Amino acid sequence: MRRKLSLERGLVWLRSDLRMHDNSALYHASQCCQQLAAVFIACPASWKNHDEGNTLVTFRMACLHELQTRLQTRNIPLYFLHISTFSQVPKALQHVALRLKIDGVFANAEYPINEQRRDTAVRDILCERGIQVEYYSDRTLLSPGSVRTGNGEPYKVFTPFKRTLIQLCAESAVNPLPVPRKMPVPEGGSHWPKWLEMGGGARLTQKIPGQLPNYSIDSAVTGVVRGWRAGEKAAQKRLKVFSERITKYQAERDFPAFDSTSRLSPYLNSGAISIRQCTHMALSLNDGCWQGGSEGIACWISELIWREFYTHLLVDFPRLSMGQPFKVETEGVPWVYNQDLFNRWSRGETGVPIVDAAMCQLNESAWMHNRLRMIVASFLSKNMLIDWRWGERYFMQHLIDGDFASNNGGWQWTASTGTDAAPYFRVFNPYSQSQRFDPDGTFIRRYIPELALLNDREIHNPPPVPGYPQVICDVGAGRKRAIAVFAGLK
Ligand SMILES: Cc1cc2nc3c(=O)[nH]c(=O)nc-3n(C[C@H](O)[C@H](O)[C@H](O)COP(=O)(O)OP(=O)(O)OC[C@H]3O[C@@H](n4cnc5c(N)ncnc54)[C@H](O)[C@@H]3O)c2cc1C
Repeated sequence: MRRKLSLERGLVWLRSDLRMHDNSALYHASQCCQQLAAVFIACPASWKNHDEGNTLVTFRMACLHELQTRLQTRNIPLYFLHISTFSQVPKALQHVALRLKIDGVFANAEYPINEQRRDTAVRDILCERGIQVEYYSDRTLLSPGSVRTGNGEPYKVFTPFKRTLIQLCAESAVNPLPVPRKMPVPEGGSHWPKWLEMGGGARLTQKIPGQLPNYSIDSAVTGVVRGWRAGEKAAQKRLKVFSERITKYQAERDFPAFDSTSRLSPYLNSGAISIRQCTHMALSLNDGCWQGGSEGIACWISELIWREFYTHLLVDFPRLSMGQPFKVETEGVPWVYNQDLFNRWSRGETGVPIVDAAMCQLNESAWMHNRLRMIVASFLSKNMLIDWRWGERYFMQHLIDGDFASNNGGWQWTASTGTDAAPYFRVFNPYSQSQRFDPDGTFIRRYIPELALLNDREIHNPPPVPGYPQVICDVGAGRKRAIAVFAGLK
């Protein structure tokens, strides 16, 4: 239980929690501070280093624009500071806090290792100056580290993790927090400056820029990024629309031609919507049941718990943030590093229609259906035996919903290098996956016009077609090679 704070001036440090509703740090700061401001610190060099792509960053900036307008209605000014790297954040934030005469900084925890190190350094440096630092567990339903086996160990397998998480969550209701209170404006107007020079050319400003080094983020100001409307309002609308068809989720979710999944991932990852809001919606439609009741709803809740599982794993196994496989022995796989083959995979030119259509979906819309993520990841890491880390990186650079924990978890699961991974001998057959989940080729036809006139049988494994590539690897032999390699690991 936290002690009750009472502070004069508070600062909410926003990161991947860009919303006003159900934001733990923002809500609690508004409750215990007399005056409140928020700050967002852009670190484009570190973002680039973490492979965060242009679409993801543009979407984040667009969410920030929307949030600034919302916060104004609560009399909370949002400052923007651009520095370069995470390592500069502690000093910069200390400087901001001192200049703004802040007594306490509030933020929601982030879990990849560099983010954790940054946050520890921030706490240390601010505490030296007597500034309170409060981090909240907000990105997950339960704090990482709190879901344990009977022996107090972290779970390495999803199903028992899910069982325990549900038991723990069911002990209390999942209740999203309200918006922050409206902050009083002192007589004579706000005491917050419009901007401050921070030295070294940096400026703390209430104007969110339309440009950032390393990125081209012009479309952030329009609020629509590659067809995705950014922000909390759009996220709430999407949740509402999805709630009307959630009961069909289990039956339809694996068919990429249908728009049957929620497409909430960009919003969950930027924090425009919270995991509690999503879970609360699902539970309220399922009489409070986490399992049972509607199969569609229970299945969707289970997917939300996969996200939870992968996020918890990051904290218990820091090596996941260091480019290492969960299963150490898989370091012995003789991965192939063929740039030309990799480029063909990434451009959607493998000659396997479902793989190519999926990669076109990613390249055109910055998002890919979950079933397709598994198919293309399996094709790259198993049939082509290319190092899964190349694929993980490409996804991160191109997805609007790129999330380190889920992306790493998804790639390692598919490549059989991760915790709870697919058994190595179960290699997805892209042709039968295609026949099963895109039976009449609707999805393939949408992205590969050269194949549009083929019949429903041929479209999955086509004869030579002008303008469409021949298959770049022997799918069957690739499968056999992968199984043999994994079977031979010590
Ligand atoms: C190789 C690979 C890479 C992936 N990379 C990412 C990524 O970078 N970011 C990301 O958010 N998801 C990733 N996923 C998980 C999943 O594909 C997406 O979350 C999902 O496709 C997003 O669409 P949706 O919002 O319509 O999901 P829905 O089916 O509506 O699910 C609701 C939410 O549950 C979570 N979720 C669903 N499936 C999974 C899953 N398998 N693992 C973790 N969380 C899940 C997501 O937050 C999702 O938004 C990856 C999966 C694979 C196999």
